[in-house]
Amino acid sequence: MILLDGKTTAESIKENIREELDTHIHNGLRRPHLVAILVGNDGASKTYVDSKERNSRALGFNSTVLRLPEDTTQQFLIDKINTFNSDPEVDGILVQSPLPGHIDERVITQTIVPEKDVDGFHDINMGKLAKGDEGFVSATPLGVVMMLKAYRIPTSGKHCVVVGRSNIVGRPMSLLMSNNSEYGNCTVTLCHSRTTDLGHFTRQADILIVALGKPGFITSDMVKPGATVIDVGITRIEDPGRKSGYYLKGDVDFNGVKEVAGHITPVPGGVGLMTIAALLSNTFRAYKLNMGL
Ligand code: NDP
Repeated sequence: MILLDGKTTAESIKENIREELDTHIHNGLRRPHLVAILVGNDGASKTYVDSKERNSRALGFNSTVLRLPEDTTQQFLIDKINTFNSDPEVDGILVQSPLPGHIDERVITQTIVPEKDVDGFHDINMGKLAKGDEGFVSATPLGVVMMLKAYRIPTSGKHCVVVGRSNIVGRPMSLLMSNNSEYGNCTVTLCHSRTTDLGHFTRQADILIVALGKPGFITSDMVKPGATVIDVGITRIEDPGRKSGYYLKGDVDFNGVKEVAGHITPVPGGVGLMTIAALLSNTFRAYKLNMGL
């Protein structure tokens, strides 16, 4: 079994960006600028936004985090996004989800201009992905493909089974893997909560990508020997014995499945780190397009 290490893979992607950025800075260009907007006080969201800010800065990007109170109105948020949309020195904008219930997330994702939509949630970017055109791809699925590429795991002609069909992970993941591209060309099965006999499908997977949010759900009897298993799931499990009060668990029963799989991602230390690297990569791409590079 080979462990797919998100830490070293993400570091090497970031190092490549850093090197290329150094050249642009040396030539007198400005730095890329990522804006993250956080509405409310959700603990996990705060952690994610802090991590995005820390990683952006560490790479030499400019980073702005706009922290807004829980009772922010939808119109106020739209006005803020539009200010960033029209600022030529802002390259990427993201609004951390989930948003408070009184704000319509669908409206917000369509407010960010597609050229700055580094999360890839805008209908235009989702549509481009569905058609196999170049646009911004949601960071988690993109990070998974970057991981497969880094470990040179062949995808062409393989059977990829994706569990979960959310718009931010499962569905774009299934599109990416089925697209006619170097790290696509899979035959894809997309499973969800209405799938009958899930194990029947997961056992056929050469590449099994799991994003359902149920800790330890995929057990060794559901995995084909030698398969590549990508665990996107991250659930906080309360643990008063730890300083943080919790630990993170994936959707895959790691200890059991690692005995069967050919390759497997750990949680933490797998897809989560790749998601950040993919977001930075999207931001750098938005910067280069914005600067005409
Ligand atoms: P959602 O809750 O939006 O989607 C979950 C999906 O899983 C749904 O499509 C649902 O089906 C499906 N599902 C639920 N139960 C079952 C079941 N018993 N059998 C088959 N399918 C099932 O979650 P997300 O996609 O947003 O996130 C999934 C997980 O990934 C979470 O743990 C989340 O924290 C994590 N995540 C990790 C990221 C990272 O950076 N590593 C980034 C984003 C998410 P249906 O559509 O029918 O309801």
